[in-house]
Amino acid sequence: MAEPAPDAPAPLAPSRRRVGLFGGTFDPPHVGHLVTAVNVRHALSLDVVVLMVANVPWQKEGRRDITPVLDRLAMVEAAVRDVPGLAAGRLEIDLGGPSYTADTLAALAADEPEAELFTVVGDDAAAGLATWERHDEVVARSRMVVVDRPGAPVQLSDDVEWIRVEVPRLEVSSTDLRRRFLDGRPLDYLVTDDVLAVIAERGLYGRQP
Ligand code: ATP
Ligand code: MG
Repeated sequence: MAEPAPDAPAPLAPSRRRVGLFGGTFDPPHVGHLVTAVNVRHALSLDVVVLMVANVPWQKEGRRDITPVLDRLAMVEAAVRDVPGLAAGRLEIDLGGPSYTADTLAALAADEPEAELFTVVGDDAAAGLATWERHDEVVARSRMVVVDRPGAPVQLSDDVEWIRVEVPRLEVSSTDLRRRFLDGRPLDYLVTDDVLAVIAERGLYGRQP
């Protein structure tokens, strides 16, 4: 057998799987979430970005009615079905109770100890990191990724080494979409057709006239 040439590159060590955790209520999932997830995956060469559906979003609970979690999961599954490298996550549903990212990361690490974990958040969520349950654990267990709009970096505390990914910011929020739907305004292009189909099938967000 021929010897490798002396200047041949050393064989690459098997690389650790790079997993992005993008948590949310996803009530409903919209193009802002999807554009964020695919761009972060691309920018950081992640193997997968998991859109993790919060079981009980404790920061929102009591403020409004949250759509049942299995309906939100069905919408997220519909949104990512045909998108390579995106996945719908049900781990927080399986864990039960309120959804804390610290616990989710611990469960992901227990499942796949070799994986390198990235916690992905929008700028509003990043600015509120200090209010998260055991946020020090979140920072210890994962690299923190914040999605910035081009030219308008959010001000963040500098005790965390944030990775910033610039994504064209789409001014879409689930809250606004629910309002539009109730008014009978179209959600076309703001959520995917498959998500719209799940909303119609399950009769979510009130009736469209
Ligand atoms: P709501 O209006 O109910 O708060 P939302 O649209 O903000 O819903 P969430 O499920 O709360 O969606 O957000 C999940 C994650 O997605 C958060 O990290 C949030 O910062 C981020 N995010 C929400 N909207 C956008 C958007 N338009 N572009 C980029 N990221 C977004
Ligand atoms: Mg929000």
